[in-house]
Formats: sequence, structure tokens, C-alpha cells
Amino acid sequence: MKKNVVYQTEITGMTADGNGVCRIENIAVFVPMTAVGDILEVRIVKVLKSYAFGIIEKLITPADGRISPVCPVFRQCGGCAFQHIDHSTELSYKENFVRDAFTRIGKLQPVFEPILGSDSRYYYRNKAQYPIAEQDGHLVCGFYAKHSHRVIPYTACHLQPEIFTEILNHLLPALEHCHISAYDETSHTGELRHIYLRKGFYSGEIMLCLISRVSVRKKIKSLLPEIQKKFPAVISITESVNPQKTNVILGNSVAVLAGQNFITDTMCGKKIRISPQSFYQVNTQQAEKLYQIAKEYAAFQGSETLLDLYCGAGTIGLSMADSVKSLIGVEVIPEAVENAIQNAKLNQITNAEFFCGDAGTIADSLLKKNLSPDVIVLDPPRKGCDDLTIQSVIKMQPSRIVMISCNPSTAARDAAKFAASGYLTKKVRAVNLFMCTSHCETVLLLTRE
Ligand code: SAH
Repeated sequence: MKKNVVYQTEITGMTADGNGVCRIENIAVFVPMTAVGDILEVRIVKVLKSYAFGIIEKLITPADGRISPVCPVFRQCGGCAFQHIDHSTELSYKENFVRDAFTRIGKLQPVFEPILGSDSRYYYRNKAQYPIAEQDGHLVCGFYAKHSHRVIPYTACHLQPEIFTEILNHLLPALEHCHISAYDETSHTGELRHIYLRKGFYSGEIMLCLISRVSVRKKIKSLLPEIQKKFPAVISITESVNPQKTNVILGNSVAVLAGQNFITDTMCGKKIRISPQSFYQVNTQQAEKLYQIAKEYAAFQGSETLLDLYCGAGTIGLSMADSVKSLIGVEVIPEAVENAIQNAKLNQITNAEFFCGDAGTIADSLLKKNLSPDVIVLDPPRKGCDDLTIQSVIKMQPSRIVMISCNPSTAARDAAKFAASGYLTKKVRAVNLFMCTSHCETVLLLTRE
């Protein structure tokens, strides 16, 4: 197989990162922005040892479920893998990713409950972090082109709240007026790196955080009252200085420039305060459904001790606190733990306690203090749980473990480790939180045999 050669073929599968798969000359070729069933001509763009990458040269017969993408920059942007297919097709792909992960990686045979979709496909995100660049003498922001850090200026993403576009379109010229320069990654010079916005889905409160290499506080001082006047929902304006050469967006600390350092939203009927550093599910409405399923899986009787590992601002545990005797949450980000403690107070929840630290280390120390939770909720980051966490959880002998994960592959890997110690995965349900993208959330119930 050679680069630039064009083949006629059919897309027969879909990878979990959203590439269509076809077989040409007996090797797998991955083609983005395709759909299973497409008959097409594929131009080979990269050949590796056992697989290759191609792009659509000509779509001959489109598969069922194809639709026109709504976004003009769909092809350049790396954000949406599935804007060109309808929601039910997207759901069937994601259901397959999850099923495939648990049967193939996990070698497990749980009951797969039907994936939970969403009524609305666009404008669902409550958070966006826009990289900044300077183009033709102007400050621009948008998104990185696929596999690169080249900024494509675009402020009207169909997944973000529309007010973010208004704020950006006002803010960029205003920042320019204050002589703010864009950070340049290559030379590690310039000032503004990212504009980070978050909006409470129910409260409408907005947080604006400027991430810069060096502080821009003095330069933009006069701008702040004007932003607050024009956008009264912006009740938190902060700055995070990040002087490092890194892909990590936020710096080590966040300082208030105007207003407060948090916004408050509602989730599962509970008031939730969130700081810029705290994790908060980007799709509030779908996250509420996800947490509701997790609660059903946990099947509380009322007398349980619940351990919520990787608890963030406490959202999951607090949504369950009324149904258990006591709640213990563990989280590594100090600001998130502060939020969680405050969130318990805001909701008059008195049976909750939160610890700041590594999930495995704290779980191990709780185990040594003879804590034996009845139910453990695990909601790790993409890389999944480490072995200390898994082993500590197993030794605590909870009767049920509910795992929530944004990465079906690591969830399946971890579920297999639990299975080896007698915790079988009983049911698995995919929940679509990230419409139009290839990402998928999964919730699973493990019980002790
Ligand atoms: N359960 C929360 C947060 C889930 S995201 C919610 O639903 O909102 C995963 C969380 O794990 C993040 O808050 C992250 O800061 C935290 N985290 C990452 N590594 C960790 C570790 N080693 N120990 C404890 N928490 C960790």
C-alpha cells in the first residue's frame, strides 16, 4: 500500500475515537468523518506497519444515518467526530464501543442496558477553554486544528452556550484595546494563553478565567467593570498565571480580579459551588441522569456508609447523601474539596465528610482505620484507577461498587481486575453526555460474589 493511492471500499466498522474502518489489501485503514456502510473512494495519507490512515476522496453511496454537519468548521476542528451522522446512529456506535470494551478488554459478560441518549444535541456544554493566538495583528481565539496547536479562529461552537460567543466577541477587541498580546507557544513569549468560561446550566451564572503566562491584571483593570455591566451573569472574573511550557491549561493558582472565585449551579436538586480548578461534568442535564442511574445501581436502604472516591466538588455523593447513613468523599484537588465541604453546608447535609488526597492513599488509610463502606462509588479520570485504589476498595469489602467512567477501555480493564477478586460486573449502561463527539460516559454495577 502506498501513500496517495486511491481505493474504492466500504466502511465496515468504527473505532472508539471516531474513525471509520475499512480493510484494503488486508490491512485496516482508518478514515475520519465516515459512517459504517459508506461506499467510498479513500485516498491513503499515511501508511504504518500494520495499519494506515486515509481520507475521503469521493463518497459514492452514503450510509444510512448520514446528515449534514451543522458547523462550518467541522472538518478542521478536532472536537466533533460525529456531526455528520444522526443521533441514533451515534448512539449505536457508542453502545458498541462500550460493549466491545467490556467483552474484549474486560472479558466480562454483564447485562448491557440500552444507552441513554439526549433530547438536545447542541449547546449542551457548560464549559469551554479557548486557546488564544495573534493573527493578522489581531487577537483571535477558537480551537486547535486536528493534531496540531494551530488556532483556528472560531467563537460560535455549536456545543457551547451561545452567550459564550457574545462574550468572546466583546472581549477579544477589548483585550486588544488593553494591549494584551497572545501567548506564543514556540517562543514562550506573549501574555494571554486561554480564555476559560463556565456557565451554570440552571443558575445561568458565568465564570470567566483568563489564563496568562504573566499577570495581565494591571493592564485589564479598567475593562472589568465594563464586562460586568455588559454581562451581569459574569459574577466571577479570575486570572490564573501559568508561566510553564506545558499543555496543562490552568496555572497553580487562581486569583480573583472581580466578583468571587466561584459560581453556583444546581445539580440533582443540590446547590453546587464550583471553582475554576474543580471538575464539573460539562453536560449538566445528562450528568443528572447519569448520577440518577448510579443511585439506582447503588440501591440504598438508608443504613449505608457510602465512600465516593474521586468526588470532585462532591456532586455524586451529595446527590445520594439523603439516602445513606454517612458519606465520605475523597478528592485530590484542594479547591474541589473546599467546594465539596461548602456544598454539603449549602444543602444542610450533615452526614458528609471529605478528605483531600490521592484516592488510593486515602482509601488505604481508611482501610487501616477499619472503615468498611457498604457502597463505594468510583469516578476516576480517563486513565482509570491505580492498583492501590483497586486493592484498597476490594479489601474494604463493600457489597456494591458503582463505577462511573468517561473511558470504557480503562473501566473495562479495572472491572476485570475487580472480577479477579470476586467483584463481578453485573450491569453496564452507556450514557451519552458528549453528543457529536466520540466520547461516552459509562456506569456499571459490581457486586461481591
Ligand atoms: N465525581 C466528580 C468528579 C469526577 S472527575 C463529578 O462527577 O463531578 C475525576 C476526579 O478525580 C477529578 O475531580 C480529579 O481531580 C480527581 N482525581 C484525579 N486523580 C485523582 C487521584 N489520584 N486521587 C483522587 N482524586 C483524583
